[in-house]
Order: sequence, then structure tokens, then C-alpha cells
Amino acid sequence: MQYIAPLQKLIEHFRALPGIGQKTAVRLAYHVLDMPPADARALANAILEAKEKIGCCNTCWNLSDQNPCAICASEKRDHSVICVVEQPQDVAAMERMHEFNGVYHVLHGALSPLEGVGPDDLRIKELFARLYDDTVKEVIMATNPTVEGEATAMYLAKLLKPAGLKVTRIAHGLPIGGDLEYADEVTLAKAMENRREI
Ligand SMILES: [Zn+2]
Repeated sequence: MQYIAPLQKLIEHFRALPGIGQKTAVRLAYHVLDMPPADARALANAILEAKEKIGCCNTCWNLSDQNPCAICASEKRDHSVICVVEQPQDVAAMERMHEFNGVYHVLHGALSPLEGVGPDDLRIKELFARLYDDTVKEVIMATNPTVEGEATAMYLAKLLKPAGLKVTRIAHGLPIGGDLEYADEVTLAKAMENRREI
């Protein structure tokens, strides 16, 4: 073992995080050791508090510390338009753009036969459950412009259209193969504005 045990443990936890390699994990671990005890405790508590207080909204399945979430509960939002995204991060990206006033539905992934992700692994049943009354008029497919995202949008469109709903797909100004999460606000706003019916 290269490091004393508690340090090694900390390094391993950092390494398990996405985008963190060995070097960064070591740097972060040493940084934590240098922190005043109160700061280290605040960091640990923030992690625990986020895990304890944040769950999923049982309507849109976005992360929230209340149920229904603030967006689903808001009377100022247009509940006739549902924007379907893959991940909670995508809702955050859309909200940063300040142009969309509808509500969301978070699938928690995209269809991927190669990785064994089928319709039952996503919040698709829950999406259909929201369409029983006549409130919803349009469903916007804002899944990522990847093979999986496109396949998911097409799959849902096929099921939704017979119900008489307007189904649209956000335009590609978005980089192909990219993540919605990382699109800048202007690109995202344009992609929404230029959405087309599918
Ligand atoms: Zn919600």
C-alpha cells in the first residue's frame, strides 16, 4: 500500500467519482487533509444532507427536495407542454436557458439495446400515466442527439402520436453525439425554438 490506510481509503472514494483519475484523487485527498476540521465536516455533511433530502418528484421524476417538485407544483408553468429529457442535469440546463415555460419528464436514461436498457428501465410508464387527462397537448423530445437519444425519441413518438398528441423533436444545432447538459443556453434555446414535428 502506497499511502497510510485512511488516506488510501479517501483516495479510492475520490477515484470512484466520474472524471476523476488517480492523480486528481490524490490531490483532492491531500486537499481534504489540509482543510480545517470544520470545513471537512461541512463537506461530509453536505454529501449526507443531499442524499437524505433529495429524492425524485413522483410526477416528472426530476430530483427534488419536495414532492411534487417546484416546477410541477407551479401554476405559472404551462402544464400542456411536457419536455422529455434523459437526465435531471438536462432539466437544469433547460432551466438555465429561461425560455421554456412548460413542465418536464425525466426518463433517467435512454434506450440502449447494447447496454441492455429497455423501455421498462426508463420512466416511460410514468410518462404515459401523465397523459390520461386532456391537459397535455404537446410532448417535446429533448433527449440527447446520440444514437440512443434518437432511438428513444422515435420509440416514444410512435407510441404517443396515435393518442393525438403533437410530438416534436428539438432541432439539431446541438452537437451530434453531444450531451444536452453541456450545450450553451443560446444553442439550446435555438434547438427548442426550431423544434419540428415528428
Ligand atoms: Zn416534478
